[in-house]
Amino acid sequence: MASKRVERKIELLRKQLNYHNYRYYVLDQPEISDFEYDLLYKELEALERKYPEYVTSDSPTQRVGGEVLHEFRTVEHKVKMLSLDNTYSEEELRDFDKRTRKVVDKPIKYETTLKIDGVAVTLNYQDGKFVRGATRGDGIHGDDITQNLRTIRSVPLRLLTDEAALHDIEVRGEVFLPKASFLLLNRERESSGDPLFANPRNAAAGTLKLQDPRAVANRGLDIFIHTIPISPAAKYRSHYAVLKRLHGVGFKIIPHAKLCTSIEEVLDFVAYWQDRRENLDYEVDGLVIKVDDFEARSAIGFTAKSPKWAIAFKYPARQAITRLKDIQLQVGRTGRITPVALLDPVALSGTTISRATLHNEDEIRRRGIKIGDRVVIEKGGEVIPKVVRVIKEKRTGKEKVFRFPTRCPVCEQKTYRLPDEADWRCVNSSCPAQVKGKILHFASRLAMDIEGLGYVLVSNLVDQKLVKGFQDIYKLDPAHVADIERMGEKSAQNLIKSINQSKDRPFTNVLYALGIPNIGINASHLLVERLHDIDNIINASDEDLTKIDGIGEILAKSIKNYFKIKKNMDAVNELRRFGLMFSAKRREIRHRALTGMTFVFSGELKSLTRNEAQELVRKLGGHPSSSISKRTDYLVRGAEPGSKYNRALKLGVKIIDEPTFLKMIGSERTGKQQ
Ligand SMILES: [Zn+2]
Repeated sequence: MASKRVERKIELLRKQLNYHNYRYYVLDQPEISDFEYDLLYKELEALERKYPEYVTSDSPTQRVGGEVLHEFRTVEHKVKMLSLDNTYSEEELRDFDKRTRKVVDKPIKYETTLKIDGVAVTLNYQDGKFVRGATRGDGIHGDDITQNLRTIRSVPLRLLTDEAALHDIEVRGEVFLPKASFLLLNRERESSGDPLFANPRNAAAGTLKLQDPRAVANRGLDIFIHTIPISPAAKYRSHYAVLKRLHGVGFKIIPHAKLCTSIEEVLDFVAYWQDRRENLDYEVDGLVIKVDDFEARSAIGFTAKSPKWAIAFKYPARQAITRLKDIQLQVGRTGRITPVALLDPVALSGTTISRATLHNEDEIRRRGIKIGDRVVIEKGGEVIPKVVRVIKEKRTGKEKVFRFPTRCPVCEQKTYRLPDEADWRCVNSSCPAQVKGKILHFASRLAMDIEGLGYVLVSNLVDQKLVKGFQDIYKLDPAHVADIERMGEKSAQNLIKSINQSKDRPFTNVLYALGIPNIGINASHLLVERLHDIDNIINASDEDLTKIDGIGEILAKSIKNYFKIKKNMDAVNELRRFGLMFSAKRREIRHRALTGMTFVFSGELKSLTRNEAQELVRKLGGHPSSSISKRTDYLVRGAEPGSKYNRALKLGVKIIDEPTFLKMIGSERTGKQQ
């Protein structure tokens, strides 16, 4: 090819790739399949390899690269990065409105957007190309993290516009880690023995500080651009309008924003998002309210620390005060003993709370919690609320110190706590609480999925010594079961039937069902994919195991320990005799179950949170999306589905219910996917 033609071809491919990258990562509305995208990408890569003289830094092939840094360069911000004043009170929002209206004598519009709980960064573009990105630092100087920001797919390396006014701009935004990626990251860190991140913001901040851009690229950071500090041209008088324009040329902006014409409208928006923010897949801790008009902003001006034309409203943490009546101990399937606070019932964000987690002994000691204390409880993103502090001023002197018992509250055998662990455990692997927990796990949806084997029944079976371990359930016959209280003949037969049906579950489910400590469904998938059958897994060396991407040292050790114990091996052998699957079917190895499929969720699911469901889809090779398009493969319909459901109906997207979805992710055993 003549060099002019090569150059033109390369340029064309880059334009196409940039455009499709934007459709995918910014708009979440891809126009071509991943496969088609890969073809374009590979074509560009091949040309660039052959003609390296045409490689430029804004080429999509150069997103992740650069060297491992030893320290970040300090750079000076062209425009200071001020922080915003913030408030928790509506009254102060009204005061803010009064102050601004005193200075500006025309009607004021407030640009009101969700406040993302992430890490503030600034990005500079020259000639439409991303040239530099930095952290806020002290507001005047920040760290140059250009290399790391480039790895974020929603950061455009080149803007999709010829408009000269937008070619040399500085924009600011918030880097964040989606909740689903955060959960996944922490789960991976747990299995590899790394300390966990406290929340998505810490995880995002920690990731931006990594010195290897490749490691950053793997974490799945994302960004919302929310600010352009200087109007790019006289015709842009409204900040809100510029942002909309920036969205059109490549930037991801906060989707939930409103131009409000009065402070009342702002307050309505505040109320609207108070609870709804929980359903978003990123953390939102409040709203940002800014005077929209650039001219009005100059009239209002700044204080030394912050602009006077903007304010952040923060939602208060959801807290309530109640009395801690007692501390109950729960014994889990691995013997771990978890203290739970029993509370006088109290209303908190729409539900009645009567229990809160206390995590472990150290946590109780650190917070100085005594039985009978008045305590402040808080509900964060978690399902179970937690006790945040004790109101010591309210003590009467009758409160009792809680001591962790040295005997298991269920089986009365000894408890122990290893020096490097936070948890007390029951030593007795035949402890009824442990056995019940193990059987319930064995029968659970993602494991053997045995219908009808719930807590009450399992409890009865164990207490009446009809089963001593999960393998024993395959020895039950209807006569045995029918003797159990409130169990009719018909339901006894049904139970036996579903127990027998579970023998067809794929190896991945069986392996997960064994309940090897630290081995979740994802790790099971990895092990089955790579090692194929139980003997390979039992005989694998530490090294064989840790060679598998996603299996760290802790997991490897856990697997080795599990099969060293005779009782566990006996159970495995017995299950084998009953005909359970201990080697992989071909498709378990070849494909992850959802490879290439796009899923959208609408409405609430019963057995999983939205985040967990999305994470599973991702792990199984699929793509969870938040918006419906013709390319969506499945819409999963939960309780009270919303507008996405209607759109799916309109577009003719396949709609499945939750049980069907669970079958698809748990296994492909039914073979029918509607
Ligand atoms: Zn016990």
